[in-house]
Amino acid sequence: MVRVLVTGGAGYIGSHVVKALGERECEILVFDNLSTGHKEAVLYGELAEGDVGDENLLGRVLTDFKPDVVMHFAAFIEVEESVRNPVKYYENNFCNTVKLLKAMRAAGVDKFIFSSSAAVYGEPDEVPIGEGAPFNPVNPYGASKAFVERLLKELSDAGDFRYVSLRYFNAAGADPEGRIGQSYKRATHLITRALKVAKGEFEKLYIYGTDYPTPDGTCIRDYIHVDDLAKAHVLALDYLLSGGESRAFNCGYGRGYSVKEVIETAKKVTKVDFPVEEAARRPGDPAVLIADSSRIRGALSWEPEYDDLEFIIKTAWNWELNKRF
Ligand code: UDP
Repeated sequence: MVRVLVTGGAGYIGSHVVKALGERECEILVFDNLSTGHKEAVLYGELAEGDVGDENLLGRVLTDFKPDVVMHFAAFIEVEESVRNPVKYYENNFCNTVKLLKAMRAAGVDKFIFSSSAAVYGEPDEVPIGEGAPFNPVNPYGASKAFVERLLKELSDAGDFRYVSLRYFNAAGADPEGRIGQSYKRATHLITRALKVAKGEFEKLYIYGTDYPTPDGTCIRDYIHVDDLAKAHVLALDYLLSGGESRAFNCGYGRGYSVKEVIETAKKVTKVDFPVEEAARRPGDPAVLIADSSRIRGALSWEPEYDDLEFIIKTAWNWELNKRF
């Protein structure tokens, strides 16, 4: 059976990928420090508690478990926080990834799947964004991912190492069966935040910026259901196992919704007319991020199942109302 080490597998996206890997019948070891993840989110495999910055522990885990592939989700993800505290982002997202890659090499593990981000592109010249678009991150979060991607390419060019980098657009939604979903103490992402306001956990939802060069003045994002994103990882795994060369793929549907459109849909799904207030721009936010997803649809035969904003929000709302952790 294929053995996969999943760092950050107790987190939001990682746990949905673990679910997909479990359904594909892989031997799974999750390595997670539980700083933002939850034990209960790990539906398949074993959990080893630890930090990716802990080189000795990581070395032992890799040597004992001998994975065929490492999937690396453990990272910080908040754009705004990265602007306030860049060191935190470079240290964990970049330096700890360097440690992980070094430990993998020492243990003879040569295949890697990386959680990258649309944030590597910054403010793109053209939308939808193709994988060939230049890297021009406009915040430390995006830069930390771009540095890793550069290193991955250099490592791969140097030989005996292959990777797939998946550039996530806006992951959202939850397990349609309601077992797992997003669960952070500080919910900063739009859909989760909106639903928490609908639920009464926060007083109101702020729209960060209404003066962007978009039809309604609010930012546009390509929201992708987390299970469709998870499926992309399983396809990437099979691609690497069958000898596929190192490649990056955008993960999005190729369609964008503005902040106002998301709010409208959230109100429709929840049937709550929650309070919304227009506020200043949030630092580090590009105006429009929409994926050109033709590469992943072609090369990995990725076919999304849940390309429907209302369904995405419904699954997130169901989780929000019935969450177990
Ligand atoms: N956003 C907002 N209010 C919120 C949270 C987010 O207006 O409470 C906006 C944010 O400025 C951005 C978009 O929603 O334009 C998506 O932000 P999110 O944090 O969900 O994801 P990001 O694109 O930053 O990864």
